[in-house]
Amino acid sequence: MEEQEKSEQEVKENSTQANEEFKKKEAEIQEKLQQGTGFEFTAEIQKLLDILVNSLYSHKEIFLRELISNAADALDKVRFKMLTENNLRNQELPLEIHIQVNKEQNMLILSDTGIGMSKEELIENIGTIAHSGSMSFLKQLSEQKEKKADVNLIGKFGVGFYSVFMVARQVDIVTLSAYPDKEAYLWSSQGDGKYKLAPINKETRGTEIRIHLKEEEKQFLEEERIKSVVQRYSDFISYPIQLEGKQINKLSAIWQRSASEVKEEEYKEFYSYLTHNQEAPLSTIHLSYDAPIQFNSILFIPASVPWDMTFDIPEKWHGVHLYAKKVFIQSDCEELLPMYLRFVRGVVDSDDLPLNISRETLQENQVITKIRKNLVRRVLERMEQMSAEKKDDYKKLWLSFSKFIKQGYRGDYENREKLAKLFRFYSSKEAPENLISLQEYVDRMKEGQKDIYYISGENRESIEKSPHLEIFKRKDIEVLYMVEPIDDFLLSDMTKFQDKNIVSVDREDLSLDDVKEAEEKKDATETKESPEISERSFEDFLHYVKDILKEKIVDVRFSKRLTGSPCCLVAAKDAPSVGMQKIMKMWMNEKYEMPKRILEINKEHFFIKNLIQIYNTDPRNAILPLSCEQLIDNALILEGSPLDARAMVPRIQEMMEKMADLLSKKA
Ligand code: ADP
Repeated sequence: MEEQEKSEQEVKENSTQANEEFKKKEAEIQEKLQQGTGFEFTAEIQKLLDILVNSLYSHKEIFLRELISNAADALDKVRFKMLTENNLRNQELPLEIHIQVNKEQNMLILSDTGIGMSKEELIENIGTIAHSGSMSFLKQLSEQKEKKADVNLIGKFGVGFYSVFMVARQVDIVTLSAYPDKEAYLWSSQGDGKYKLAPINKETRGTEIRIHLKEEEKQFLEEERIKSVVQRYSDFISYPIQLEGKQINKLSAIWQRSASEVKEEEYKEFYSYLTHNQEAPLSTIHLSYDAPIQFNSILFIPASVPWDMTFDIPEKWHGVHLYAKKVFIQSDCEELLPMYLRFVRGVVDSDDLPLNISRETLQENQVITKIRKNLVRRVLERMEQMSAEKKDDYKKLWLSFSKFIKQGYRGDYENREKLAKLFRFYSSKEAPENLISLQEYVDRMKEGQKDIYYISGENRESIEKSPHLEIFKRKDIEVLYMVEPIDDFLLSDMTKFQDKNIVSVDREDLSLDDVKEAEEKKDATETKESPEISERSFEDFLHYVKDILKEKIVDVRFSKRLTGSPCCLVAAKDAPSVGMQKIMKMWMNEKYEMPKRILEINKEHFFIKNLIQIYNTDPRNAILPLSCEQLIDNALILEGSPLDARAMVPRIQEMMEKMADLLSKKA
């Protein structure tokens, strides 16, 4: 009891003392500013400030969230640095955030004992927009029709600090870097395109954000208002946040609590704190283990590809933050999840990890390896569960992250079976927006069908023009449509699903004989008027074509698969798929020779029959070799393969001339 009274007394004394200090400090700051050096913000920041100050009217309180989150980051940084460096300033200082109000001066002060900033860092971090996302933020804002920009975008694009100018007429930053060779500095701006810098005195490490509130924003001097904002947005901050000497946050990291106690809304706030994304996560996984390894984790599956992440730059990793014994160790730790799951965000905190763990030792650490295995299992399980129980959500997930998940098949050998079950594809038997699983495909395979069939191409439209699909339509067999470039890589690894081969429709050795024709699907080309041809003439013509085209193809044969088209190219048994060949050609350019293929000719096609008849009566007719060559090019164009267009033009020209000649004689 006595203790408590004494401490209340102390608080009072401290606060009067603080008031005096406050006035002194203010006077000093304003004086130093007189002699400060002026700088201009970059054009982007000026634009950003203009939008912040003039277009945003709601949710202004988020400035507090942004500043607290910056303070917490600065505390994380210094805490981590202190593990390995022992010359930092004020080692003994508690890691805390303080909020102070001064109603007399209409000021709000936010201070932290974090890493602080040097003069250079002030210029670098506060004076310019270094984040790649900021430009796209500005673009999005300027594209919005009404000038009422979406305030939620601010946090998302890492321009958090500037949001303070929504409520401030002037902001002064007083900061001292934790590195002993750096001096304390003062930064000040009125949010008008310029700022000033001046050296200043500051005793202890850390940053003070001194906000001169606009007259109409006095609400942020009210303790209740501040408290409610902090509790709403920043309760999970793992450092004490003191308001006028009283701690106002719970300080129990959200992942340390039991899942049943955490509300949906809290997860969402935590997610947006971690990712700067205001969109709710698609799925949340909260794990607590005590044995064999102790760890807590919260993982989020985002609802769309995070704005700061691209599939093609995997080095730009954004993932799971690592804590050891509640101490922040590393952000976006690459060792916690395999590369293909790098879109999963969250935290892991383990009591079984040493605090001095370094980047190098992370890789060999047994605890990390075990945690990682567990996380992968839980993420894949969650996806599987979603695919069964929340189909719409899973579809969203798949549309956003299919490339990532497919990428996993190559490296994550252990989980291949699970991954294959998660894959979804478009199909010849579904509406364009529908996706099916391999399991669904297998379950509805036709009687006598042995393999799973796919065709790859740029998009559904071009795929559906392929002559290779004709026999599948005739036999009413489903074909999966592979439209992502990564599919060709995937299918070079994934050659089977369960006991079924996964086969490209352009293989020479399709085993479709056991599947009955669907009568009503038979095509109508046969009825087109065409000459009667004897077996003998067919054979002769085949030899002729083989001879003409021997440079370009390995073989010519009559086709069993075609109905409407005169010909197609098929891949020899062991050759790589056409998709794969196209990729190799793209990579290696001229050096890569596409393997020769087999030309299949439709002997029921009236054009082929006409050619045979010309061959029978006039085997030297120039139209014959021209047509044979052009047939190959036509097939290549249809499948989107590269071809020598320059050789094609004179050929077509010659054919046109012959045709014109013929028609004009007839006329
Ligand atoms: P973000 O926090 O998304 O990086 P901000 O505009 O909020 O963007 O902050 C810009 C940078 O300024 C931060 O990345 C950090 O380097 C620095 N900074 C901001 N506040 C602090 C602080 N309280 N202590 C130390 N550095 C800070």
